[in-house]
Amino acid sequence: MPSLADVSLGFRHAYLDYDRLTAQLRAWAETFPQLCRLQSIARTPERRDVWVLTIGPEPDRVRPAAWVDGNIHAGELCGSSVALGIAEDVLRLHVDGTTTLPAPIAARLREVLFYVCPRISPDGAEAVLRTGRIVRSVPRDPRLDRGTPRWRIGDVDGDGQVRAMRVVDPAGELVESRAVPGLLVERTLDDDGPFYKVYPEGVIEHFDGRTVPSPTFVVDNPIDLNRNFPWQWAPTHEQIGAGAFPTSEPESRGIAEFTTAHPEIIAWLNLHTFGGVLIRPPGHAPDSKMHQEDLAVFRQVEAWMTEHTGYPTVNGYEEFLYEPDKPLKGDMSEYAYNQRGAIGYVVELWDLFKRIGMTRPPKFVQYYDRVSRADVEKFAHWDAAENDGRSFPPWRPFDHPQLGRVDIGGVDPRVGMWNPPLHELANVCKTQSEVFQRVAALAPRLQIGRIDRRAIAGGVTRVDVRIENDGYLGSYGLPSAKQLDFNEPVYATATVERCTLVDPGAAHQVLGHLDGWGRGLHTGANLPAYPGTRGTTNAAYATYLVTGNGTLVVRAGSCRAGFVTARIEI
Ligand SMILES: [Zn+2]
Repeated sequence: MPSLADVSLGFRHAYLDYDRLTAQLRAWAETFPQLCRLQSIARTPERRDVWVLTIGPEPDRVRPAAWVDGNIHAGELCGSSVALGIAEDVLRLHVDGTTTLPAPIAARLREVLFYVCPRISPDGAEAVLRTGRIVRSVPRDPRLDRGTPRWRIGDVDGDGQVRAMRVVDPAGELVESRAVPGLLVERTLDDDGPFYKVYPEGVIEHFDGRTVPSPTFVVDNPIDLNRNFPWQWAPTHEQIGAGAFPTSEPESRGIAEFTTAHPEIIAWLNLHTFGGVLIRPPGHAPDSKMHQEDLAVFRQVEAWMTEHTGYPTVNGYEEFLYEPDKPLKGDMSEYAYNQRGAIGYVVELWDLFKRIGMTRPPKFVQYYDRVSRADVEKFAHWDAAENDGRSFPPWRPFDHPQLGRVDIGGVDPRVGMWNPPLHELANVCKTQSEVFQRVAALAPRLQIGRIDRRAIAGGVTRVDVRIENDGYLGSYGLPSAKQLDFNEPVYATATVERCTLVDPGAAHQVLGHLDGWGRGLHTGANLPAYPGTRGTTNAAYATYLVTGNGTLVVRAGSCRAGFVTARIEI
């Protein structure tokens, strides 16, 4: 049998295009058919598949599962590589048992199913990889309202690439750096010209010959898939990028349908770039309003993130609102946490700010606003030394059909800004995988415990079956998820072979949820001053009265925690 190395297509050292990414997934599915299943959960308008790879033996056997996705935003290619890296590490755990994880964690993980969706927006990623143009999520523009002049981004100088365009303008907001020729920085009062305005390479639809509309990053690609999910969705006038209605897009629809059909997903990693931060729920309230037992579990995730990646962890509401007091609507990680009950969170890969020596501002999101002229010059020097100068290609003069003389070039944010440089990618994959594999290992695990048989009067046998959970989390997953309608309590269903239940109604028994042993961090459990733990709230009993000799088959579990079966000879 070929090894994993034999079928690797290099995603730890390169950003793969659609064909290569598809070939990687197919190679795994074909080489390890007992461990992998590849399916398409959506077909895009440009006729590409949104792939989900299921990893683990017996993929249809219900048991706790972990979901990983990447590249919902078109330029955030690193998420695809990290998702593939996690897939490969988990696969290796099954194929040859090799792992960097401690043995108890590895043992847990072999019982967790993984769903890996490495590229939510293959159309968007392809546009970015081919041309470098700005696409938020998907390179399509279904607007019917087309009367207002606006930018249409595209190649105008015929080199197949889409960069920036600068135009000399005395009222320009930017000026060339004195330290780094060609680098445009924010103008200050003491600067001499020339000054520049900067637009995306492209043309203006309905141009009147003199008025230039302001471009935005969604100017000709108005849908952000990460605002198109049903949890607290709001229309575009309230939330930019929302789309026409929740899951109006095939990509988000496919994910909502798949994950709704899989209530066993207990952990959900949503990969983005860039920043170098874990953004956790709640996205619409401070920690004081959060379910405090959930918060304790997230503190454990935070501890692993700090240890393995150095990334800080922030509450989305407290530290990552783009506008104060205006929580995002319709984003996927909040859907994952609030609606699907998963340990759902975002990781913004690539800690660029730290790399250029910026100190962390009071709120993490302020990093993006506070980049100074000196910081961006430092970045340009780093780019020249460490990133082959990819980020700042030279400006070239061009006669634009609408604007006259412009310069095209200037900036290419794909590798170095939006995503880590290629030589750092392998380490990002490795460290993120270390963290998320641990998070997935928090899964509940049901077991059949002790079975007692006792003959009582009249040829009746009493059978007590202990059903227990020896996992970290309860059978419900996160504590707050207990309230979700689909999160049913554990139940036991009995069938008999050659014997009889005295009370046929006892064949189905609802046992209730079973706690796990884990409680997260900072819960006082280390303090020996007042000894005490929970009672045996991790176990329940199913009791049967049986007449005759035969076999009692007990199947216990739930749609989230999975099922275990005991065959009991009477
Ligand atoms: Zn993103």
